[in-house]
Amino acid sequence: MSSRIAVLPGDGIGPEIIAQAVRVLEALDLGLEFTEAPVGGAAYAAQGHPLPPSTLDLARHSDAVLFGAVGDWKYDHLERSLRPEQAVLGLRKALGLFANLRPAILYPELANASSLKPEVVSGLDILIVRELTGDIYFGQPRGVRTVSDGPLAGERQGFDTMHYAESEVRRIAHVAFQAADKRSRKLCSVDKANVLETSQFWRDIVIDVAREYPQVELSHMYVDNAAMQLVREPKAFDVVVTGNLFGDILSDEAAMLTGSIGMLPSASLNASKQGLYEPSHGSAPDIAGKNVANPLATILSAAMMLRYSLNQAPAADRIEAAVQSVLARGLRTSDIYEAGTTQVSTSEMGDAVLQALE
Ligand code: NAD
Repeated sequence: MSSRIAVLPGDGIGPEIIAQAVRVLEALDLGLEFTEAPVGGAAYAAQGHPLPPSTLDLARHSDAVLFGAVGDWKYDHLERSLRPEQAVLGLRKALGLFANLRPAILYPELANASSLKPEVVSGLDILIVRELTGDIYFGQPRGVRTVSDGPLAGERQGFDTMHYAESEVRRIAHVAFQAADKRSRKLCSVDKANVLETSQFWRDIVIDVAREYPQVELSHMYVDNAAMQLVREPKAFDVVVTGNLFGDILSDEAAMLTGSIGMLPSASLNASKQGLYEPSHGSAPDIAGKNVANPLATILSAAMMLRYSLNQAPAADRIEAAVQSVLARGLRTSDIYEAGTTQVSTSEMGDAVLQALE
């Protein structure tokens, strides 16, 4: 049976980069069935909502969603619920996407793009697994209240609630152990168990889940130390699993180690391995429509889609090898260009990946 892919290009550079990823997927001849729908600002302009019911319905009934990016300054005046970015949150919620997988890979050819010394970071290949639907971001109660007693009595106070249920920790731990099992079998769980009850609970559950994966070596690190070690010796990590708040910060830190946001894919998965695949960057309205955006993050997101949702690991390997080979040939979009390499457009980069596939 062919797999159904919902293609949601979105705004800004979204349509340009998605077009290249779809060309690459089509060239693999896997019998995928693509259906396109508007999302974000484009959907608001066409149908009055950033995530119209027809788009949501398509996503729900697809095996995977290939997502470009959403957002444009021209929609900044809209009330929050109608802003393009709400489409991402709506899709995460509707599809139950609880596991965010963000690889941070620095191809040796791009080592100079990092702000770290090439010898520290060249060849970096880590995977951050971030829990996406729990933690202090969604805990209730939250708000602003007036303190009723103690030294701060009478003052206004902002507050949030951090919590994780056992099932939430277990399911993200399983995703992380399984990902680690397919890589170098090293998993580091990041928490703040020396201070936070939620983190100690997280750690206890992760240790319990680890008994099902004796082949994976589990370690633990406090988040402040992890933030330091990511800069000091990033290659010591392989797979990192952490909660929503710490993962938000660490995954951006890891992404910036590579220095090339246009290269980084991401995946968000639910319990039935249905997933939303998108580049880690935004819609880059400053360069939209100019055929200069780097399509590789989106093409690599398509490879993740094949690996994690469609059970097509060999095809994913082929795409990743093709990307590696165009970089080795010295082809660069403007964001990763340096002297001595050849600057190409978005579509020329797509052409080169197609050629490398052959
Ligand atoms: P951005 O990632 O869109 O752009 C940051 C910088 O990186 C810009 O200079 C841009 O030109 C460059 N850049 C990004 N992707 C690139 C690529 N593929 N090739 C070459 N250069 C690239 O972040 P921003 O400017 O903060 O946000 C722009 C819009 O994107 C906002 O509306 C924001 O809300 C939205 N956004 C959307 C998502 C998403 O769709 N998931 C994520 C982040 C930001």
